[in-house]
Amino acid sequence: MSATKSLPKTYKAIVVESKGADFKIVDRELKMPGANEVLVKTEACGICHSDSIGKDGHWPVPYPLVVGHEIVGRIVAVGSDVKSHKVGARVGSGWEGGHCHVCTSCRKGAFACCEQGSINGIKKDGGYAEYVLINQESVVRVPEELDAAEVAPLLCAGVTVFRAMKATEVKPGEVVAIQGIGGLGHLAIQFARQAGYYVVALSTSDDKKDLAFKLGAHEFIGTKDASKQVEALQKLGGAKVILATAPHGDSIGAVVPGLGLDGTLLVVAAAGPIKVDVNQMIAKRTGVRAWASGSAIDSEETITFAQRSGVKCLVERFTMDKVQEGYDKMMSNKARFRSVLVFDQ
Ligand SMILES: [Zn+2]
Ligand SMILES: [Zn+2]
Repeated sequence: MSATKSLPKTYKAIVVESKGADFKIVDRELKMPGANEVLVKTEACGICHSDSIGKDGHWPVPYPLVVGHEIVGRIVAVGSDVKSHKVGARVGSGWEGGHCHVCTSCRKGAFACCEQGSINGIKKDGGYAEYVLINQESVVRVPEELDAAEVAPLLCAGVTVFRAMKATEVKPGEVVAIQGIGGLGHLAIQFARQAGYYVVALSTSDDKKDLAFKLGAHEFIGTKDASKQVEALQKLGGAKVILATAPHGDSIGAVVPGLGLDGTLLVVAAAGPIKVDVNQMIAKRTGVRAWASGSAIDSEETITFAQRSGVKCLVERFTMDKVQEGYDKMMSNKARFRSVLVFDQ
């Protein structure tokens, strides 16, 4: 193991002690990395809707738990088996917190779908803390010159929408509709524009019209009436992709007839059951696809694309003592557009 010389004995972590408990700031003993881990001094950690899985115990999680899976910081110690990451390097880690290398998903290179995979801030402690241990295979390289708070959400919200669109057959010039203009949607509009698609922003009201155009949308359809959204998309020849970023099953299912020939409804929002009319789908050979997050290299590609094309995550910053405020803003969809925890350096 190698480490920087002046590491503290203890550090502050925001802990959830049991299912649904309030956040609590506690002092913890600093543990050195295991053979396969790096120890990261956290600079920023995004506050994501999926943190509620750990906070409210929607899945079985190990309490007490530190949530947070949009982590950016600097390596201060590396385990004995870590070959490709050095002390002092600027890094991060997202949802994918480690993978087994041997399951079917891993053998096909789909590490984020690993059957035995770890998840930062869900299956192990995450980034709502001054220090965090990261498995080496989930370490994301982060360029020095970027702002930690602006990069952090790219490791979950950003990589999810960017990688999901890349997984489709959509070509430059084709119509991509982005449904929902929140944390994921505001990034998706920018990525889609920069990738060369014809971008249509779908929202339930006119409130976000100016913003959508500023982010790069070519067209904006602001109405609660799904049939009007469908009509507008069909006037454009139908969407090749409708990317659903807001977790509302009814409105997701209702826009499916807005797809064009061989179009795909691409769902990245955990919306639960959705109802679709397969008769319309058969006529246009359309499909429904879902996508989750990405691996470390996917996150690096997302960061590179964002950096080169000027895609920026709009963030609101919160210090550790304001974690509840940042979390509440995210949960009530009032953050513009991602809440991010920032740590003293
Ligand atoms: Zn997330
Ligand atoms: Zn695996």
